[in-house]
Amino acid sequence: MTVLLPGATLGVMGGGQLGRMFVHAAQAMGYFTAVLDPDPDSPAGRVSHYHVQGDYLDEIALATLWGHSDAITTEFENVPAQALARLAEHRFVAPGAAAVAIAQDRALEKAHFTRCGVPCAPNTVIATEDELAHVADDLLPGILKTARLGYDGKGQLRVATRAGLRSAWDSLQRVPCVLEKMLPLAFECSVLVARGADGAMVNLPVQRNLHRDGILAVTEVFDGCVAPLQAQQAVAATRAIAEGLGYVGVLCVEFFGLADGSLVVNEMAPRPHNSGHWSLDASDVSQFELQVRTLAGLPLTQPRQHSPAFMLNLLGDLWFTRGGSETTPDWAAVLALPGTHLHLYGKLNARPGRKMGHLTVTGASVDAARATASQAAALLGLPASWP
Ligand code: ATP
Ligand code: MG
Repeated sequence: MTVLLPGATLGVMGGGQLGRMFVHAAQAMGYFTAVLDPDPDSPAGRVSHYHVQGDYLDEIALATLWGHSDAITTEFENVPAQALARLAEHRFVAPGAAAVAIAQDRALEKAHFTRCGVPCAPNTVIATEDELAHVADDLLPGILKTARLGYDGKGQLRVATRAGLRSAWDSLQRVPCVLEKMLPLAFECSVLVARGADGAMVNLPVQRNLHRDGILAVTEVFDGCVAPLQAQQAVAATRAIAEGLGYVGVLCVEFFGLADGSLVVNEMAPRPHNSGHWSLDASDVSQFELQVRTLAGLPLTQPRQHSPAFMLNLLGDLWFTRGGSETTPDWAAVLALPGTHLHLYGKLNARPGRKMGHLTVTGASVDAARATASQAAALLGLPASWP
């Protein structure tokens, strides 16, 4: 592919926080940027050189985007795959529509993992009454997840019995779902890889993740945050999954670590990921710069983490007092702590559960960074310790 040098314009489908941080990285390197998002106040649209305000399948909006852009990427996986395919008729698009279509569908995604020899949680597809009736007993208790359009634990219901499964499927409007056996998780982790059009691949170190209510709450990254064997397995599996897709771009794969020491894959995201945000402040190349490099056809060099990192997600809940009235978190108090890096996404309205920003804490040692992260969490009213 031809290399797009700074001065070219990089386009992105979607204007959320991931698009915003992509735009920041691209602009820092001297690129122009274009964002397509229907929301006039989208976080990325507000900081991009061009903001095409329109729907993802609108022909005029797509033509305007490719008219501005020399190459186009995506910042969320639910962008219609047809839209990416349409753009690809005119411009280089990475990741490609076929890979995104697989990541959009839990059933296709699991089939791909299995093809790559990476084990998943025991699961079955429920798309028909007959499939519902024939669910194996040992998948219960389980989690019923819509095959498409789930995020941050939305579109998921925990089920313990057959009757509960039936009513859960009813309440999900009987859309195609995947039922997964509930596993006893010892920990969760994720790995980000970047793969170029020439097949070159680099990865960020394994990230240990803590979720609260199905939403990522804390990511910690340092040598030994995941035991070496499982860390190696996670990196090798992620590389195999990207290779198997012929993937171009940044890909994140999430894993469950089980009590018996085994590792199973959960899901993948065809884009930078919340669990990789720490790389903006603690790695010499961030996940967003990797996305820029893969899109522009620039060389990929193995990123080097230079500090232990703890990332705390800042959800909209922090903007409300216990009594429910609106407040502003005490950023000055948090920023008085050494090694705190505040990122806010410019969203106009805080809502409980909405990702408003994140705080990365770096330090000279794991203990120092952890102690600061714990102090910052306490100042923000978040739990000051986590398992
Ligand atoms: P994301 O925001 O990562 O896209 P999502 O809505 O796609 O989230 P999942 O990643 O499938 O949801 O699940 C969210 C969380 O729920 C997981 O990180 C894990 O904590 C828990 N979970 C999901 N599946 C299982 C399972 N089979 N067993 C135990 N816990 C699970
Ligand atoms: Mg997930």
